[in-house]
Amino acid sequence: MTGLYIHIPFCKRKCPYCDFYSVVENDDTIFHRYVNALLLEADKYKDKRIEIDTVYLGGGTPSLMDEKLILTLLTGINERYKVCDNAEITIEANPSSVDFNKLSGYRKAGINRISFGIQSSCDRELQALGRLHNFDEAKKAVFSARQAGFENISADIMIALMGQTKSDVKKSVEDIVELGTTHISSYILKVEDNTPYAEMNLTLPDDDDTAEMYLYMSDMLKGFGYRHYEISNFSKPGYESRHNLKYWRAEEYIGLGVSAHSYFNGSRYYNKKDLAAYLSGESVKVIEEKNINKSEEYLMLSLRLSEGISTNKYMSLGGNAEILDKAREIGNRFIKINGERLSLTEEGFLVSNEIISRLL
Ligand code: SF4
Repeated sequence: MTGLYIHIPFCKRKCPYCDFYSVVENDDTIFHRYVNALLLEADKYKDKRIEIDTVYLGGGTPSLMDEKLILTLLTGINERYKVCDNAEITIEANPSSVDFNKLSGYRKAGINRISFGIQSSCDRELQALGRLHNFDEAKKAVFSARQAGFENISADIMIALMGQTKSDVKKSVEDIVELGTTHISSYILKVEDNTPYAEMNLTLPDDDDTAEMYLYMSDMLKGFGYRHYEISNFSKPGYESRHNLKYWRAEEYIGLGVSAHSYFNGSRYYNKKDLAAYLSGESVKVIEEKNINKSEEYLMLSLRLSEGISTNKYMSLGGNAEILDKAREIGNRFIKINGERLSLTEEGFLVSNEIISRLL
C-alpha cells in the first residue's frame, strides 16, 4: 500500500516564521488550473494500478479551496488510483478559512481526518505568529468540524514562542485538549533563514527553557491520555496519523504538486519549487537519490518514533552491528532497549539530531 501526498501551495497571507513552499494567492481560477495540473501529474502513474491507503492534502493552506474543488480533486484521484475503502484521507486547514458548509462538503467528498493549525490559545501569541485566526475562531472551527461529521481531528501547538512561559504552555495545552482533539502535533518554533523572523532579532526562550517546556507539555499530554508516539506527535489510542507513520517507517509514498517529495519504486525525487512551470505542465521532477542506503534511512527515520527500531529489521536491511553497539553505549538517559527494539527516551527525543549524527 502506498501513501499519497498532495501539496496545495497557496496561503492567504505568509506567516513570518514559515519556510514551507507557498505563495499568497486567493484566485479561484488559479486554484482550478492547479487541480488540473495535479491530475495531469497523477495521470503519469495511473497505469500502475497503485493501491493507496492514505491521502494527505497538505500545504500551504488546502482549506482555501472550496468543497466542490476538493471533490473534483478527490474524484480525479479515485479514477487514477485504487484508493482503499478504509483509507485515511486528511486535509490541513486554517481555522479562519472554514465554515460548517465547507467542512460538510469536505466530509462528503470523502475526507475523514482534519488537521487544524491552531498553534496557541493565547491571542497575543497568535498575533505575533502572524496567524489570521484568534482562539475563539479556532474553537468554532473544531466545533463545526465535529458537527460536520469529523471525529478524527488534529491540532498543532507551537512552543518556545517569544515571551512564552511554562504557564502559557500549560494554558494552551489545557485549552486545546478541552476541544477534544484526538491528535496533537507540537512544534518548537525555530527561526529559519530567509524568513521575516530571521531579520527581527527576536528574544526566544533559551535551550534549557525550551527543553523544560517540551518535557512539561509532553507530561501534560500523557496525563490527558495522549500517547507520545513520535518526537512531535501525540495521539489518543488508535488515532496516530497513518500517513505520517509511513514517512517515519521509511515506507513508500507518492507526492503530487509543486515542491512535493516522493519515495517510490526505491527512489527519492521531488518537484521543483516553480509554480508557473508546474501550472504549464512542464516536467519538473528532480531525482534526489537512486540508491538509497535502506538501513541508515530506517534508523534515521524510525528513531523519531517511540516504538523505535527493530534491530533485527535494521540488520536485515544491511545495517552495521557497530552502530547498534555505539547506540547501546549512549546509556539509558537517552536510549531505551527492550528486547530487540531500540528507541529514544523523552530526553533522547530532545537531542535526536545529535544522537543520530553521532551514530551515522
Ligand atoms: S498558513 Fe501555514 S503554510 Fe501558510 S504561511 Fe502560515 S504556516 Fe506557512
